[in-house]
Amino acid sequence: MTNVTSPTARPGIDERLSRMIRLPTVSAELEQRGAEPFEAFVALLAELYPLAHANLDLERHTDLGLLFHWKGRAQADGPLVLMAHFDVVPVDESDAWTHPPFDGVIADGVVYGRGALDDKGPLIVVMEAVENLLADGFVPARDVYLSFGGNEETYGRAAQEIAAVLRARGVVPWLVVDEGGAVVDAPLPFVPGRAAMIGVGEKGVMTVKLTARGDGGHASAPPSLTAVRRIARAVDRLGPATFRPRASTAVLRMLTRLADETPGPAGHLLRLLGSAPLVTARLFAALGGEAAALVRTTVAPTMQSGGTAANVLPSQASATVNLRIALGETTQRTVLRVRRRIRDPLVSVEVVEASEPSPESSTENAQFALLADALAVSHPGIPAVPYVMMAATDSRHFHRFAPAVYRFAPLEMSNAQRASIHGVDEHVEVAALERGERFHRALLERL
Ligand SMILES: [Zn+2]
Repeated sequence: MTNVTSPTARPGIDERLSRMIRLPTVSAELEQRGAEPFEAFVALLAELYPLAHANLDLERHTDLGLLFHWKGRAQADGPLVLMAHFDVVPVDESDAWTHPPFDGVIADGVVYGRGALDDKGPLIVVMEAVENLLADGFVPARDVYLSFGGNEETYGRAAQEIAAVLRARGVVPWLVVDEGGAVVDAPLPFVPGRAAMIGVGEKGVMTVKLTARGDGGHASAPPSLTAVRRIARAVDRLGPATFRPRASTAVLRMLTRLADETPGPAGHLLRLLGSAPLVTARLFAALGGEAAALVRTTVAPTMQSGGTAANVLPSQASATVNLRIALGETTQRTVLRVRRRIRDPLVSVEVVEASEPSPESSTENAQFALLADALAVSHPGIPAVPYVMMAATDSRHFHRFAPAVYRFAPLEMSNAQRASIHGVDEHVEVAALERGERFHRALLERL
């Protein structure tokens, strides 16, 4: 792949990522570690990317939000916003890593450490592309913003604030690209080959607490419905079928796009499913697991408590339920349905936290075509396939007012690598970083 390392790519991307990994920017441990690793990261960016710092304006919003502004040739059209986050999740002390998680070890063309994939790898390929283009004297066709948050993993406010600031200035992004999908192997169990999975939307999140009260007393003569039994019944009534399955446009397009790439009967089946929303919804719901989560709001009881002693009737019991809300639904309708399914006026339902699902970005627009064009340069032959993300990203703050928001990091990730995100032995291939840089450079050149 000679077109991958073009003459303008600076060598040493592995060393630079290694230095980023060595700064333990663990947002969940901000209290213990202090702001020092985060400030050191900001300083490291300035040291590693002098041209970006000389040519782009840098603003800080909240303690942990960085917003770079690169002025384009034409400012009339909306800008491109490239997003990433530089905080990482904690490491479980009991996990055995092959290489220590914050040493940034480079071995056999691989960089190891917490953040290699989530999300310092995706961040560095953006910075490298910008720096390399600046070295060539390049000016983008439209304005470009780089929006980096330092507390994505703790649902922090950095990205939210940056989105609010741009919105208040009347800046409506033409295209937003953030973390999410990647270049993956076998995206569906019956689909071989590789695909670039591009998240066109993300599900909402809601946590509700169910509480029941009852008369305490001795356990030797219980009433038929104690507080614990009420809660158990309520949780049982919130089974997998609580919400009706529905195949969103994104899921149907995903199937159709994968059908184009899949020969034989499997491809034929995918094409049929892609034009049959009812069948797809039912089939995916029946498959359970990730397939079911693609087509419906999921309900996961996560915590339960009640009672104080083995022989005492509990005066109170509760359960916490985590829901992931399908695109096209609302938090309000979701909580109404939860109440209706529980059918028990003595079980109170309290919303602890809620965020709406995002809208769905189109795949029939110039923005999606641009992503596919850039992909054809960096990863020739790999199809761009839309999908819906289960997890939340910082880009949801932009999706409230910008229509074209895509969740995709241009890095190859094997199934083992994807499992290492938030897990053990997170690592990225140097060759994957180089192709990632090429993707962003192609994207910027084609704006
Ligand atoms: Zn992340």
